[in-house]
Amino acid sequence: MPDIANQPVTSLRGVGPRMADKLAEAGIEQVEDLLFHLPLRYQDRTRITPLGAVQPGSDVVVEGEIRVADIAFGRRRSLLCRIQDSTGTLSLRFFHFSAAQKNNLQAGHRIRCFGEVRRGASGLEMYHPEYRLLDEIQATPVEESLTPIYPGSAGVSQGTWRKLCAQAVALVARAAPADLLPNREGFGLSLLDALTYLHAPPPDAPQELIREGRHPAQLRLALEELVAHNLSLEKLRRQQQARGAPVLAAGQDEVGDFIATLPFALTAAQQRVVDEIDADLAKPIPMLRLVQGDVGSGKTVVAACAARRAMACGFQVAIMAPTEILAEQHRASFAGWFESAGISPCLLTGRVKGKARRSTLEAIANGEAPLIIGTHALFQDEVKFARLGLVVVDEQHRFGVHQRLRLTEKGEQPHQLVMTATPIPRTLSMVAYADLDCSVIDELPPGRQPVQTVLISDSRRDKVIERVRAACEGGRQAYWVCTLIEESDALEAQAAEATCQDLETRLPGLRVGLVHGRLKPSDKEAVMQQFKAGTIDLLVATTVIEVGVDVANASLMIIENPERLGLAQLHQLRGRVGRGAEASHCVLLFKSPLSRQGQARLSSMRESNDGFYIAERDLELRGPGEVLGTRQTGLMDFRVADIQVHGDLLERVRELGREVANQRPEQVEPLIRRWLGNAERFASV
Ligand code: ADP
Ligand code: MG
Repeated sequence: MPDIANQPVTSLRGVGPRMADKLAEAGIEQVEDLLFHLPLRYQDRTRITPLGAVQPGSDVVVEGEIRVADIAFGRRRSLLCRIQDSTGTLSLRFFHFSAAQKNNLQAGHRIRCFGEVRRGASGLEMYHPEYRLLDEIQATPVEESLTPIYPGSAGVSQGTWRKLCAQAVALVARAAPADLLPNREGFGLSLLDALTYLHAPPPDAPQELIREGRHPAQLRLALEELVAHNLSLEKLRRQQQARGAPVLAAGQDEVGDFIATLPFALTAAQQRVVDEIDADLAKPIPMLRLVQGDVGSGKTVVAACAARRAMACGFQVAIMAPTEILAEQHRASFAGWFESAGISPCLLTGRVKGKARRSTLEAIANGEAPLIIGTHALFQDEVKFARLGLVVVDEQHRFGVHQRLRLTEKGEQPHQLVMTATPIPRTLSMVAYADLDCSVIDELPPGRQPVQTVLISDSRRDKVIERVRAACEGGRQAYWVCTLIEESDALEAQAAEATCQDLETRLPGLRVGLVHGRLKPSDKEAVMQQFKAGTIDLLVATTVIEVGVDVANASLMIIENPERLGLAQLHQLRGRVGRGAEASHCVLLFKSPLSRQGQARLSSMRESNDGFYIAERDLELRGPGEVLGTRQTGLMDFRVADIQVHGDLLERVRELGREVANQRPEQVEPLIRRWLGNAERFASV
């Protein structure tokens, strides 16, 4: 877009420094920003509705002659003004009015009003309409287009938004900007066509279609916006790659020895992903690879292969887990796996304090610690690595993109491996992870039996409790998961405590344990350890067990009120069973009656054990914010595009992005600037 669009808003009529400040608060600094400040909805002021035809509840323009205007003394004093046309009458009611107003509204004048029609004391009424007295001689035209209602902002009235946006559109139209997207991709509309349409749609515009976000003008903008985001992620990727990374090509023997000591052979899928990672590590540019694999597909050992190679090449490895429990579990796994190689991992979480912390930090800084496992505490400023070569981020969906990038700001660029257990629908990953290469472990280790899932109503709770007894008396272990009642740890913990007590009384022979988010981490861990060691038969838990807990002997899971959880989360939970050779079961103990949607969702759990299928269903049913987790919703914060509404556009996004970058590279920056603003949040983190 030409320069005019990039001028400050103060170049517009009516914008002084004070208005500019208010606009800046709404993120509007340049003329161009106004163009993309799109209306939320529209009012129809293009027609005059005959008074005999007005309906309560509608916003309409009416016109008539004032018959009487008088103060009415009801419960509240008001100015009541009755108007009439050839088809009927209507009352205008003003609770607040000035003497001048009262004087103006005199019988005999013609008046045009806009407002909402309601039923009032005198029949149909309009309260505080916008109005204008009409000059007999000069017939004032009605609006030619629908009237936009803009997203509000303190101190900027709708009238001001309308004037400024109209000015911006007119100014830019005069400058005839070049389009940044190829014409054939524009749904028959140039950018300017689309913007003009949405700021001022014609009277016959299909408002329903616009509400749904599927008008060609919106599709045109959404596509461009998605391309802009894609280009921004690609730019970020190029910036990272420009920084260079250590070549980790050696260590073949060490990795081979490591794999040979495992009690199992890698699956073909694991081996393929290990090879893909090896190819990346051997290059002097930093790897940025996402490994997606269903729960239990064995991602950890794949990460261990990469870690072994990096250490054999003389570099440090940092592994970041989302919770302390999981960090500790990884530490234990890696300690076992690397024992024969003489490598012992060190742990760094928020709980490592005082002297232990100081000596750990020192070992990291002087390079004595080759393998560091922890939570996000790993990437605080006080942590300095001597030679960091590889970062592994486990269960990525719990970390934001921002965290993902922050760790790469530290001087030299390590390779990054990101592992997610929540398979991400392809459409979403194209947007959220365009800057990552992707590997998929699409095979479970042999001998795993799919978890049998059943739906049982809570009216049959007794039967389910019996089932728990039978399983535990048969030497197996079970989980009983209590779900969130409200967004409150405390309430959830309370509910879990009550359930635990109830189950203890009803299952006197069993050893019952309890974990929830309110426990001290050390207590939580102690209980988990007991469950792992088999000294607890039944573990009552809140959703804190969701991620990563590995107890092969647990073969039964009861999930209470599963209708409250997302499918991806249910799938994660269910993945805690079915880890051993035993046939495993998951009981979804739902609260009846179940809504139609609830039924649809839980049925997909019964139908499938495939995380990718379930993720697609989840996206359909709940939308991208939920699927990616709340911390990532900022990423989905588009101006026009909505992944749920515009998913079909995504197919073209990557290709179009590439085309713009290759054929018209000078347009990349303007596009990114236009849609992501100066902040360009990805690059600035
Ligand atoms: P996830 O992908 O969910 O993180 P894990 O890495 O925790 O899965 O692996 C789940 C379990 O499967 C672990 O106990 C692990 O030791 C085991 N495992 C991993 N790979 C294999 C394999 N190829 N054959 C048998 N068991 C495996
Ligand atoms: Mg895992």
